[in-house]
Amino acid sequence: SEKAFVMIKPDGVERGLVGDILSRFEKKGLRLIKAELKRISKETAEEHYGHLKAKPFFGELVDYITSGPVFAMIVEGEAAVRNARSLIGPTNPAEAAPGTIRGDYGTGVERNVIHGSDSPENASQEIERFFN
Ligand code: ATP
Ligand code: MG
Repeated sequence: SEKAFVMIKPDGVERGLVGDILSRFEKKGLRLIKAELKRISKETAEEHYGHLKAKPFFGELVDYITSGPVFAMIVEGEAAVRNARSLIGPTNPAEAAPGTIRGDYGTGVERNVIHGSDSPENASQEIERFFN
């Protein structure tokens, strides 16, 4: 089976959504194998979002993700990366259907509650980066 890296962002933690979100992964058959509530450094945030460095919102994105603790986790199961992305829904909550995490809770593209890795290769990298 496959591993995915998933991270509840500071808005999700602050709003008390960790339990509900974790439960959705568990019900889908994605088992929690590691988790940590922690604040991430600016360096880690800049590396994690390195592919967006040229975007005008990059600075705000780094400020947001470092603004409070995140709940970082590794989940494991059949097609974990794709299954996690489908539970999460599209980047913009306005385009995310009700029933998805971002569709139910996201308040805007810059406050979209959760991150999920987008490929098995990136999942391995992110697991290294956040849990080394
Ligand atoms: P994530 O990587 O967080 O799971 P994603 O893969 O759906 O999200 P990416 O394109 O990787 O989307 O963007 C990473 C994050 O950057 C988004 O989740 C969002 O928080 C932020 N972001 C993306 N586009 C915008 C935008 N137009 N304005 C503000 N923030 C944005
Ligand atoms: Mg992404």
